[in-house]
Amino acid sequence: MNLLRTKSLAANITLVVLLASSVSLGVFAAAMLLFDRSSAIAESDARLATLADIVGQNSMAALDFDDRDAAGKILQALRKEPPIVSACLYSNISGHLFSAYYREPSATSCPQTEPLNSRSPRNLRSVSRPILRSSETVGSIYLLADMRSLQSRRNKLILLLLVMALLSLCAGGVTGLIMQKRVSKPISLLARGMHHVTSEATFDARAELKGSTEIVELAREFNSMVTELARRDRLAKQAKLLLHQQACTDALTGLPNRRLFTDCLARATAFAQREKNIFGLLYIDLDGFKLVNDSLGHSIGDTLLCEVASRFKQHVRRADVLSRVGGDEFTVILTSVHEPADAGRVAELLLECLAKPFQVGGHDITVGASIGISTLEIDSAADVDLLQQADSAMYAAKRSGRNRAVFFTQDLGLMARERLMVENELRGAIERGEIYVHYQPEFNVLTGDIVRFEALARWRHPTLGQIAPDRFIPVAEETGLIFPIGSFVLERACTEAIKWQRPGRRPIQVAVNMSAIQFNSDRILEEIATILDRTGMSPQLLQIELTESVMVGSIQRSSEMMHKMRELGLSIAIDDFGTGYSCLGYLPNLPIDVIKIDQSFTNKLCEGSDTVKMVRSMIDLAHSMEMRVIVEGVEEQAQLNLIRDMGADEVQGFLLGPPGAEPSTRSDLEPGDLANNYGYEAYASHKFLLAEQS
Ligand code: C2E
Ligand code: CA
Ligand code: CA
Repeated sequence: MNLLRTKSLAANITLVVLLASSVSLGVFAAAMLLFDRSSAIAESDARLATLADIVGQNSMAALDFDDRDAAGKILQALRKEPPIVSACLYSNISGHLFSAYYREPSATSCPQTEPLNSRSPRNLRSVSRPILRSSETVGSIYLLADMRSLQSRRNKLILLLLVMALLSLCAGGVTGLIMQKRVSKPISLLARGMHHVTSEATFDARAELKGSTEIVELAREFNSMVTELARRDRLAKQAKLLLHQQACTDALTGLPNRRLFTDCLARATAFAQREKNIFGLLYIDLDGFKLVNDSLGHSIGDTLLCEVASRFKQHVRRADVLSRVGGDEFTVILTSVHEPADAGRVAELLLECLAKPFQVGGHDITVGASIGISTLEIDSAADVDLLQQADSAMYAAKRSGRNRAVFFTQDLGLMARERLMVENELRGAIERGEIYVHYQPEFNVLTGDIVRFEALARWRHPTLGQIAPDRFIPVAEETGLIFPIGSFVLERACTEAIKWQRPGRRPIQVAVNMSAIQFNSDRILEEIATILDRTGMSPQLLQIELTESVMVGSIQRSSEMMHKMRELGLSIAIDDFGTGYSCLGYLPNLPIDVIKIDQSFTNKLCEGSDTVKMVRSMIDLAHSMEMRVIVEGVEEQAQLNLIRDMGADEVQGFLLGPPGAEPSTRSDLEPGDLANNYGYEAYASHKFLLAEQS
């Protein structure tokens, strides 16, 4: 059985055929032998009986005449019958053996009396016949024959059977071969095909459709199985590719995601270090994107991101890798830059490409970007973390006013640590009473009258001492702490401004700075109204200073907010004018009362310079739109003279009066009559020699 199980199908078939033919041949041979033996015995018995009868009849006379010789001769005639071993003739008269014949002398002699038991000795046949005359028994004859003829017949038969067995063996072998060709060969071919499929993982193997019906069916099913496998394999590969793409690309913009970017950066770094190349990394964070998302909804935010990505794509080379690594964060790997300045130029290009507002969902949206730049130089250390560097530089860009690109320097690492310290200390600073407000006067340039005070936040830390707003305001904006600080300053400013007013005198305004993040919050109008209400402050006395960065996001929404502030009765100033986003085109549609020309222009003002021309055209532009102009940061008399000549309306600066404690408490200002003191006299007392001019 085991043999059957382990052998090949061909061997099994041959074995079964041989076994079957051997068994049938065996059964047939046994039957044949049995049948032949019994028929041969019957035949021999019949012949013996006939012979006995003939010999008996012939011996009758010899018996009658008691002629033993004659009887002997008659019996000798049996010599012609080779199977006869012996013949015994008995006379009934004597009851004894009358005559005998022996084929060979050694033969067993006949018994003296007629054997009663007619059972034949082993391998011999015997017959005993009475010799009858009419119905009288005169004697009996007893013949003993061997089975010689039977033996030879059996030998012939066995020979024949052997030949037949040989033939059937050959037939079995041939059948096996044929079966092998018809059945097991196609199966082996199929098996080889399957092996090909599994080992090579290709699905091009096909079985030939020929042979018996079952084999054709098997081959057809095999082929359709392989086709199905190929189809599933194709689907699996497609799914794998899709998964890989999904894992590596940003679903929204289709750009590489952070994962792929990290891979590319690692490869680019390794390549650059090997090839001694320079390469640059830009880390871009959109300014004001959160505002767009919060105020106009995520769907507009998403579309805006796609538009930004598409503009960026147009401005980087194909070899550069632009990725989206976070909500509003992008990176660009600049693969071949000749010098770090090249990376700076690309960053400038990207900033410029954002200048034109995006039109999304019926809104004109402006976004800027803060870009950190780091470059891998030939002598850079192997473990330099470019991403970390670009990220620090990006934060520095944000802190230094946004919408700009900043290169990484070693100092930035220190700045990042300092920023963290400021953030930690700023929490709870209001509650601990460390935040307070200083006021800086703004004057009418012609009359010298004080028209308002600008409220400026101050922070005195118990151990670190005075911390400048430039250090803590950006941190407050990033962390959201600007909301409590802004409210605190606004409330203090309103409470203070009320004290300046005198019946019958010109009102003196207070200007409060407002960050873009505050301006864009939904609660701001309500909060201003509440503070005005609580302090009893007249809205006309409050001027809100906004920077151009509030235009980031939807210009329509910014305009709407400004109109609502106007409706509240507030006046609006654009602070640091000329440094931020180019929103000049929208100025005419915005309800702006004053523009405050940034001090970076003021300190470059000198006779005949280009800055003079620029400031003059800014003043003319503002006047043409019926806006007043304040020039801030005036430190020198010559600047003041120029400003007045150019036709500015108001001035502010250290030359005229630095920020100081609450005007209502200041001893240098005459307490009884503030308005008077802040008037022309104050102007004169701060050494504006109007008189000198006149
Ligand atoms: P800013 O609104 O442009 O305020 C004017 C800054 O210029 C003030 O600096 C002021 O002290 C300074 N300044 C005035 N005159 C001169 C001058 O003649 N020469 C020079 N070099 N500087 C002059 P400060 O107080 O350090 O404030 C810096 C910035 O911090 C402010 O710039 C403003 O953007 C922000 N800030 C201050 N207080 C607040 C606040 O309460 N809320 C918000 N959102 N921002 C504030
Ligand atoms: Ca200001
Ligand atoms: Ca300013």
